[in-house]
Formats: sequence, C-alpha cells, structure tokens
Amino acid sequence: MDKRRIAAALLAAAMLAGCGETADSEDDLMIRASVDHTAATSETSLPLMTETITKETTMSEKPTETTTESSTTATTKKTTTTTEATTTTVTTTTAPETTTPPPETTTLPPTETTTTTEATAAPAKTEAAETKPAAPKEIKAASFMVATTLGSTSITWDAVDGAKGYTVCVRRSKDGEWEELASTKKTSWSTDEFGRNKSYAFTVKAYTEKDGKRTYAKKNEVSEFPYLTQKNGVTYVDGLLLVNKTYPLPQSYAPGGLTPETNAAFEEMRKGAAKDGVSLWVCSGYRSYAYQSTLYWNYVARDGSQTSADRYSARPGHSEHQSGLCADLNWASRYFNGSPTAIWIQNNCWKYGFIIRYPEGKEDITGYNYESWHVRFVGKEMSKLLTESGLTLEEYYGLTSKYNY
Ligand SMILES: [Zn+2]
Repeated sequence: MDKRRIAAALLAAAMLAGCGETADSEDDLMIRASVDHTAATSETSLPLMTETITKETTMSEKPTETTTESSTTATTKKTTTTTEATTTTVTTTTAPETTTPPPETTTLPPTETTTTTEATAAPAKTEAAETKPAAPKEIKAASFMVATTLGSTSITWDAVDGAKGYTVCVRRSKDGEWEELASTKKTSWSTDEFGRNKSYAFTVKAYTEKDGKRTYAKKNEVSEFPYLTQKNGVTYVDGLLLVNKTYPLPQSYAPGGLTPETNAAFEEMRKGAAKDGVSLWVCSGYRSYAYQSTLYWNYVARDGSQTSADRYSARPGHSEHQSGLCADLNWASRYFNGSPTAIWIQNNCWKYGFIIRYPEGKEDITGYNYESWHVRFVGKEMSKLLTESGLTLEEYYGLTSKYNY
C-alpha cells in the first residue's frame, strides 16, 4: 500500500519536474558515473540529476577544477599530476597566472600541509646559505600546469620559495629518458615543438644552486600531454570520450542508445535546420559492439579484404557509434557529400555541439574516408574550437588513429 503511494508520489514529482528526457538516462548515468560519482541514485532526486547531467555536458566542465579560467584560456588543458616513484601524493592546486589572489589563499594551504616535512627545512634561507656553507636544503616541487593550443605548448608554474631556478624536462615516450628542455628563472616556458601525434610527459624541477652545482627538488609532479585517462577501459582525452582506431571501447560498453545530451543537441539542431528549410533525421545512431561486428565483417566479406573495409567501417570496439555520442544523418553514403543538406550540416552543426568527425582531406589522420553525414557530439565549446581551428580531434590533441593489430 505504502509502496504504491510512494511510487505514485514519485511519478507525480518526476512528471512535475518534466524529466521525461531522463527516461533513458540510465545509460547516460553509466557513462557519467565514471566521471562523476556524486550523481545521486535515489529517484526522488531525479530533477536534481537532470541538472547535473546537463551541466556536465558543457565541455567547459571537463576536469571539474574550481579554478576560474577566462574564455581565452578555453583551450588550456588542466593536467593532473602523478607523483613519480614516491607514493606521496602532492596535491595539485596550480593556479593559472591569470587567476585572482583569492583562489590562491584557499587552495594553496593544502599543498603546504602535505609537504610539511620539507617545509620545515628551509624557510627563506637564501642569504644564510651564502654565509654558512650548509648544503642546500630540500626545496619544494613546483606545482605546474601544461597547456596547449594548436601545437603550441606552454607550461606555467608557481614560484617556489628558495628556488634559484627551474628546469623543464620532457619524456618523449613512456619508457624514455627524461630530457632537459630549458632552465629558467622565470615561472613559465613555451615551445611549438610538441603537441602533434604524440604523447609527452613534462615535469618542472625547482632547484637551488651552490658553487655551480644544482640540487633539485626531490618530488616532482609529472604532467602527461595530451591528458589521457582510462576508466573502465574507456579512453578520455581531457574528459572527452575518445574512440578511434587507436583507442577502442570495451565490448561491454553499451549505453544502449544516444546519450540524452546527444539527443537533446540533435533535437536542437533539427529544429534549427527546419527553420532553414532543411530536414534532418538520424539514419544510424547507437550501434552495439555485436551489431558493429556483424556490419564490419559483412563489409569485409563483400570487399574481400579488411584493408578496403577499414577505410569506411570500424572494427568492432572501434566504432564511435558504440559511444552513443554520434549519429549518421539522413543518408550515410558518399552520394550525400556535397548535397545541400550536407553543406548545411558542415556549416552549422558546430553551433549545436557537433563536429564532422571525418572531414574531407583528413583521411590519413582520422583513418576514415570523408563522411559528411557522420556527426559527433563534443559540446558547444569544443565544437567551436575544433571548427574554428579546422582540426580533427586527433590533430587537436596530437593523437593517432591507427590499428595496432
Ligand atoms: Zn557514422
């Protein structure tokens, strides 16, 4: 009896809140769950959840940092850091140079508390060190941030008390050696050397100097760029789900349909197109791993080779359609290329948070033939950045799309 009444009340509450769109949000929650564990599960909080989800869809939310970044630094990739070798975690509270003093006062103290062991060492002893030949005390590691914009990499860090200078180092491969790039007394450094089709790790080492000999801070944070994370076998670049020939989705990844935010964005685009007299519809949205497998192997059988099928069909696990974040619109055929509708999509989809995922002339980068009908939802901020830059996701983040089997 009670249960029924509660259920009815819940239903009424849900209807009042107009959460019809969350009907299939369970799938979305699966994805979001890996990003945000704060999402409530109780039915009563559905309206709240809807808000959380829609907020999250905006790309600006990505690494849920509290630092306020200006719109010009939208391309700034906040990278998390891992403490090398040592198990101690250094709290990253890098404040971009542009931030106002308040965040520093609120965010910096935790860093200092975690490093109290070292902090006791040298509280402003730069002059004392000159008079007494004591060995330089251990200095704090620099808390830094790597940002990249269209192939240009810039690193900024907080000044470390007692440091004579800073050395910027790079590691060009996972097993590679650390290589010194530059030493500077400033708190920033930039170059155009990195950012394309490779992954790098950076570190900034603060040092003291005595008799021309440098002593580096022991614990140094390491920042990977591009910032790739894997959660439950799913790859995210800077918080954005990535699937291509290099980065597959696990077989178990099955949102079961387009994510609510993708659906909502498409609906908005459909209406916008209708105003221009263009009608849009989804001809292929979500595809399961199993379905993609059937599709792909049918193409292989038809073409007689994988090499041929690989140019237009993704191997199971590598299809973006499995993510629920993309859709083929109207007519998935090369005859659609250049049609008025395709041109409309090309010119306008970015306004709704979509990108043409496999653009013309980028076949070697994306790994796929030009597909004027395949749009990927990346959020409005990202779609604008990518469209303005004319770069594919792979180029923007310096990633590859190649099968390694
Ligand atoms: Zn497609």
